[in-house]
Amino acid sequence: MLDVEKIRSDFPILNQKIYGQNLVYLDNAATTQKPAAVISKIGEIYNKYNSNIHRSVSKLGAICTEEYENARNTVCEYINAKSSRETVFTSGTTAAINLLAFSFGEKFVNQGDEIIVCESEHHSNIVPWQMLCERKKAVLKMLPFNDRGDLQEELLDELFTDRTRLLCIAQANNVLGAVNPLDRIIKKAHEKSVYVLVDGAQGIQHLKTDVTAMDCDFYVFSGHKIYAPAGIGILYGKESLLEQLPPWQGGGDMVKTVSFDKTVYADLPLKFEAGTANYVGAIGLAEALKYLNVIKLDNIHAYERKLTAYALKRISEIQGVKIYGTSENKIGIASFLIENVHHSDTGEILDKMGIAVRTGHMCANPTINHYGITGLVRASWTFYNTENEIDILCEGIEKAKKILL
Ligand code: PLP
Repeated sequence: MLDVEKIRSDFPILNQKIYGQNLVYLDNAATTQKPAAVISKIGEIYNKYNSNIHRSVSKLGAICTEEYENARNTVCEYINAKSSRETVFTSGTTAAINLLAFSFGEKFVNQGDEIIVCESEHHSNIVPWQMLCERKKAVLKMLPFNDRGDLQEELLDELFTDRTRLLCIAQANNVLGAVNPLDRIIKKAHEKSVYVLVDGAQGIQHLKTDVTAMDCDFYVFSGHKIYAPAGIGILYGKESLLEQLPPWQGGGDMVKTVSFDKTVYADLPLKFEAGTANYVGAIGLAEALKYLNVIKLDNIHAYERKLTAYALKRISEIQGVKIYGTSENKIGIASFLIENVHHSDTGEILDKMGIAVRTGHMCANPTINHYGITGLVRASWTFYNTENEIDILCEGIEKAKKILL
């Protein structure tokens, strides 16, 4: 099991007071905190070898480029991609999905074709596909979820037609916390020759992720949700597919030669990395993954499962509190409401007690609308959180009830 006190000391931000109270950081689904190893790696880059990558002939440029490409290899190993050609650095999940919506759309989507997204997706995995469908006069279809938060996967048989090109699905949901049954769904999609994009923004930090075994066609995630800096993310794609897609953005680094007659694009993955990449973020991401490799995801997973069971039990026992999303297989998320209390009032009171949570629609309007409500309070935890912090949250909810009701 984990030595959580030791782990907490690896995250300097956790050791501080907010409004005179110990910080209880329970907003990890929005972004995670960074271990000292990542923070000091960023310092090392700027202190020792900062230089533009793939361009500078200097020694510094060579070191920085090597660190950047080594970071790509670290990511590849972490998600078990077959080759570094399958792993593109982007600025995050949103950028990766927009890249795909353009490039996949250009290659594979024509008028009358269909894209399926799940009702429970984050806006990032809905809006780019709506924009594509508008552009191409294609049809956006929706796979609904039931009140527990589980996808109604039995409806897929009706939804798939011979015009369906792509299914877009989260590995785990950012409001309800449900872990989607990807194995079954990807198999079903492939039987109908439908490609699958998995949004791993809420999965990669909690679940063992092997893109080759999962057999998804595309997988995306954001570094900042897995203890790495903001502004870096990953688009994984099967090499045979990425090869067929046109580039999204043009510029430096994504070309072999440029003339006014003809431009020859770079090979994968640089074809999709126009402009100076966020090499500091990429190197920081690799450092975060190395940190996790030392702690071991299996240990993290076991600890988080226990903490999740504890938290869901404790919160659901509070009278007048309803948790939304009761799927059996959940990541560390509890989205809830105190009966007759506005979500943002609860969030503000918890904040004054040093407890950081998220409130509102959480970039998932269709999920919130499903329940006919205007927003939720979301507490989300990870392997540096403790049962004691969950107890403090529960005391905070009780206090909020007293103040607001
Ligand atoms: N997809 C899911 C499931 C998310 O939870 C998020 C962020 O909360 C995103 C996509 C967007 O991630 P980013 O804002 O890092 O691009």
